[in-house]
Amino acid sequence: MLANKTAVVTGSTSGIGLGCARAFAEQGANIVINGLGDADEIERTRASIEADFGVQCAYSPANMLKADEIAAMVADAEKDFGSVDILVNNAGIQFVSPVDEFPVDKWDAIIAINLSSAFHAIRAAVPGMKQRGWGRIINTASAHALVASPYKSAYVAAKHGIAGLTKTVALEVAEQGITVNAICPGYVWTPLVEAQIPDTMKARNMTEEQVKKEVLLKAQPTKEFVTVDQVSGYAVFLCSDTASSITGSVLPIDGGWTAQ
Ligand code: NAD
Repeated sequence: MLANKTAVVTGSTSGIGLGCARAFAEQGANIVINGLGDADEIERTRASIEADFGVQCAYSPANMLKADEIAAMVADAEKDFGSVDILVNNAGIQFVSPVDEFPVDKWDAIIAINLSSAFHAIRAAVPGMKQRGWGRIINTASAHALVASPYKSAYVAAKHGIAGLTKTVALEVAEQGITVNAICPGYVWTPLVEAQIPDTMKARNMTEEQVKKEVLLKAQPTKEFVTVDQVSGYAVFLCSDTASSITGSVLPIDGGWTAQ
């Protein structure tokens, strides 16, 4: 379905981003992966995408804190592969703390990585998409783009911001064959979720099991974590022709969380 297309997926060295990169590659797209991590492990990830799916896969080390590196990532992908047809703004971090103790540097980093990086990447990728009259921009938001939870002020603010950015850009490019949507997962079992357990244990004085059951899955009526494959399958669907009228949408995949 995506042969001759190129997908740039930010934050794709692990979790949901890696799942999306592999799912797009399975559909025949060339891929640019991006993210932090051990260099050897990233190279193994990159090579396995090429070997498993017979596509080309490049790695961009662009730091999502840096506007110039984000613009260069998109420019390099256009130069190396000829186009950026699909952009998934997925990189994200989390920090859990009461607002009056929230470290200022963590606030700034979360707003930069989870929100501003999407603006910088979209700004760089949209001109080429307009020129070709086709594009798919998918922002990995969160159920926290629709509802809040305590102790996550920066994350919830950034994700609500992503919802607004998604709608605005969708309106701007609606007549140019470009769709812009936000996917809003509930809790997906990835390193990001695993990493917030110790801080939540501390903030709420709970055990690990209590955090999983009483905090994380408490909000999710299915009582199941969403899977990476379910989220990446949704992203692939949004790139299909069937989904070409879906734009400006903030789309939950959250086991019923935001129905409450
Ligand atoms: P993850 O920690 O597995 O992946 C995050 C990715 O972002 C990694 O590749 C990491 O290297 C990258 N990253 C972090 N800082 C970066 C930086 N400065 N520059 C470049 N890359 C950077 O987490 P995940 O759970 O797969 O999260 C992916 C996205 O999904 C995030 O935006 C997150 O907010 C969102 N999300 C996750 C869940 C969940 O339950 N896991 C739920 C809703 C939304």
